[in-house]
Amino acid sequence: MTRLYLSPPDLGPIETKLVLEALESGWPAPAGPDLGLFEAEVAVWAGVDAAVALGSGSAALHLALLGVGVQPGDDVLVSSFTFAATANAATYCGARPVFIDSESATWNMSPELLADELTERRRTNQLPGAVVVVDLYGQCADYTAIEPLCAELDIPLIEDAAEAIGAHHAGRPSGSFGRVGLFSFNGNKIITCGGGGMLVSDDVALVDRARYLSSQARQPVDHYEHTEVGYNYRLSNLLAALGRAQLSRLPGFIERRRAIHAGYRSHLAELPGLRFMPLTSVDDWNGWLTCIVFDDAALSARVRAALGEVDIEARQLWKPLHLQAAFAANPGRIDGTSEHLFEHGICLPSGTAMSDDDVARVAAVIRATLTAP
Ligand SMILES: *Cc1c(COP(=O)(O)O)cnc(C)c1O
Repeated sequence: MTRLYLSPPDLGPIETKLVLEALESGWPAPAGPDLGLFEAEVAVWAGVDAAVALGSGSAALHLALLGVGVQPGDDVLVSSFTFAATANAATYCGARPVFIDSESATWNMSPELLADELTERRRTNQLPGAVVVVDLYGQCADYTAIEPLCAELDIPLIEDAAEAIGAHHAGRPSGSFGRVGLFSFNGNKIITCGGGGMLVSDDVALVDRARYLSSQARQPVDHYEHTEVGYNYRLSNLLAALGRAQLSRLPGFIERRRAIHAGYRSHLAELPGLRFMPLTSVDDWNGWLTCIVFDDAALSARVRAALGEVDIEARQLWKPLHLQAAFAANPGRIDGTSEHLFEHGICLPSGTAMSDDDVARVAAVIRATLTAP
């Protein structure tokens, strides 16, 4: 049996067709028609006025932080329970990531802890340069609570929706919260360009400046004229074609991932000692990864080992960034929520190409491990 991965790319004839057309058009890179179309189509998904396609979600994070004016020496409040890229980008700007722990309701940044941190910082006159909130595993954070906290103090809010294209909160799409949002199209995300990202915002000037910085800050004249230092962060037209093909299938991907989740739920429903990631609404979640948490950390490790033995990939939930050696010196407002999730939780294979039988096979291994004497 072939190895079952967490979230492998799901590529079909539409992808082949659009990529070949882009190749045959003679415009693999830099510019070309697919790039602008991909940006326009993602902007519609995010419900925003403007978008710029970039080489990665990490590049989008970097340009988002620069776009809202983060300066060297600033503190940037960041979700602790996330992939390292979220905090790395702040360090690229010479800023210091300060970690905020999760709430148990969504596993995303706790609005209470954020409020506490902002209150203290207002008192001591140390407001951060930005707040970066992550939408984990395809579910939006509680922006109903978070947006006003940032707005009241005029602190730019950045939505790291790298994992969450197609998700919603309170009737609004992911990517639309705060000053600027971003998506990732890395190989394991719900849609992929092979590698890629997108910065999205209603602030057209911010997006235009990000586009300019992403193409080496080249002035619009015939020769190579540069008045400031830029980056080589632009997505190629060829990869945008792949992204467009994937985006056209996103509604089907979301539906399939939710069905996989429902399958896991029905197979594992009555097992004690195990719960699923809490969802504020299945209809708001994009279904990216199905995650479960065990009451007993040792059991979580045993299940991961048992899955590994039969060539099924399952990973621990994100290791919180405040526990990473790379950020050992960074302060944070931590209450143990994300550490508990890291020690007790795993992600299950959730790729859209997996079959219902695959779901049953994964669930059977979990059940056997849990009910073993
Ligand atoms: C994947 C991811 C990123 C980085 O995106 P890349 O395209 O891999 O650079 C950033 N933040 C989160 C939460 C992610 O999951």
